[in-house]
Amino acid sequence: MPTATPVKVLSLIPPMTQLNTPYPSTAYLTGFLRARGIAAVQADLALALVLRLLSGKGLAALREAALAQPEAERSGPVNFFLDHYPRYAQTIERVIAFLQGRDSTLAHRIAARGFLPEGPRFVALDAYDDEETGDPLGWAFGALGHSDRARHLATLYLNDLADVIQGAADPRFEFVRYAESLAAAQASFEPLAQALAAPPNLVDQTLAELTLATVAEHRPQLVLLSVPFPGSVYGALRIAQTIKRHHPEIRIGLGGGFVNTELRELTEPRLFDFVDFVTLDAGERPVLALVEHVAGQRSRERLVRCFMRDAERVKFVNWPEPDIPFEDVGTPTWDGLPIHDYLSLLDMLNPMHRLWSDGRWNKLTVAHGCYWKKCSFCDVSLDYIGRYETAAASTLVDRIERIVAETGQTGFHFVDEAAPPKVLKALAEELLRRNVQISWWGNIRFEKTFTPELSELLAESGCIALSGGLEVASDRLLDLMKKGVTVEQVARVTRGMADAGILVHAYLMYGFPTQTLQDTVDALEYVRQLFENGCIHSGFFHRFVCTVHSPVGLNPEDYGVQLVPLPEVTFAKNDIGFIDPTPMPQGVDHDVLGRGLKKAIYNFMHGVGLEQDVREWFALPRGVCPKPTVPRHKIAKALA
Ligand code: SF4
Repeated sequence: MPTATPVKVLSLIPPMTQLNTPYPSTAYLTGFLRARGIAAVQADLALALVLRLLSGKGLAALREAALAQPEAERSGPVNFFLDHYPRYAQTIERVIAFLQGRDSTLAHRIAARGFLPEGPRFVALDAYDDEETGDPLGWAFGALGHSDRARHLATLYLNDLADVIQGAADPRFEFVRYAESLAAAQASFEPLAQALAAPPNLVDQTLAELTLATVAEHRPQLVLLSVPFPGSVYGALRIAQTIKRHHPEIRIGLGGGFVNTELRELTEPRLFDFVDFVTLDAGERPVLALVEHVAGQRSRERLVRCFMRDAERVKFVNWPEPDIPFEDVGTPTWDGLPIHDYLSLLDMLNPMHRLWSDGRWNKLTVAHGCYWKKCSFCDVSLDYIGRYETAAASTLVDRIERIVAETGQTGFHFVDEAAPPKVLKALAEELLRRNVQISWWGNIRFEKTFTPELSELLAESGCIALSGGLEVASDRLLDLMKKGVTVEQVARVTRGMADAGILVHAYLMYGFPTQTLQDTVDALEYVRQLFENGCIHSGFFHRFVCTVHSPVGLNPEDYGVQLVPLPEVTFAKNDIGFIDPTPMPQGVDHDVLGRGLKKAIYNFMHGVGLEQDVREWFALPRGVCPKPTVPRHKIAKALA
């Protein structure tokens, strides 16, 4: 093993990403650096921020901020909070303990209603009204979901408080993203620069205190800020600003998913008022080079995939060195993260999304990149998709065993974009051979390699849920997107999974280039039949977004669309507008159709409206919506 360098590295999760489990990037980097003999520690400032704001003291400070507002400017949630403040102050610490799984019996009092102050977010409960029982939540959870019901109510209570933070302290605050619009696809740094120059509000001040306390605890020479999404960039730069102000000697690196996708053409020197280095793609090699640089063992010219400021200009340095193979990246470690303090929120009643926000899952990748890397809407030209590498099943199960030993928790979320069936099969066999008991879920392609036998094997090894893209359920469009599957094949594959006891979730898309109204109606008919035939249990429709790194963005003419030119980019570049000349009836567009699709899927997930004509979900004038061209029993026949 190489000798330890004197550099101590602190990796930070900035606000906000998710609250039920740590975002995995710092766990990966910390595990990797430690395996190389480098002193590495980590902290989750997103969780710390929320726990501080949602504490007795935090709510008292929030009340002060609310009272300082002119009465006429207070929002509904703020007024409700002020009117019921004593009840919030009495309940907040108990509710947090309950959502952390430290006080499960409180479920009875919460579920009985009357314990929690019920602010504006609770009004939404009426939407679930169960006509038979008169119980507003009975429809959603059935008779058995006592604890779930309490967690859902406690989550609504926290959402009310998030609205109060928005109304009284910072309108950009949300639990899973923070000030997202300042960074997402922002060609210019100006909005962020202005926001960062503004006087700190209650959230900023709290984050600054937590930052200084964390730096004082660990005394690092190098801080790494990992920004997976645009909704964590502002928080990261506020952290960097605090560190620069109080500890200018500490070097700061910025990396992560947002950087890898959106900052590839960075030319904005002002970003380097906050951070010293911005690294692209898989972090291991660039971070090793940074550690050596900070230790005085490597010049700036020999950094790897790294932006920096040089004479007021941004320069990109990429000393050619091979990436660390996936086999050698080591085992992530959660050491140093408060794994028992995360909050199991129950926000959405979508069963798959629930897995995202509920429970503490160890996050692990079973391969680097995607083995398929062809889908025309996907960032296939980027390293995180395009560089496919695997590790032996024995290495993966070694990692799993080490993680279970460290965390004491056996739930795994395999965070691959599309876990390869071959690797999953080998992994399942190895788990069974070693008798390692875990529960796991992840994302795959619904390809025919997933036979009913393989699904059985996966379920036996602990697989509880699988998600995959069915995108637009239309063979013409699946072909155009190079998805490599057909609707009937997806039906057979998903039914095999469902029969094996695996929860199946389909990612669905609308608004793909050349998608017509008829395509949308037919796709919904297919989706209806997939639910009706027990192939899928859950689904989510999202609007197609064209990115500059995807085949559609790179070769729009192949997809019959024209790109809308972007303004001059000095900061973030990712999403790009396009013009699709495909005709639609007057008054109909993908936004209108999207509302119908979302309503339909929400109902299908609860077994409602499956017998109904799918045209009824689209609020279109009579005669505008065409009949589905898909025969009503097409999927049943395909399965037979
Ligand atoms: S969409 Fe999924 S399956 Fe398709 S290339 Fe991207 S990661 Fe791979």
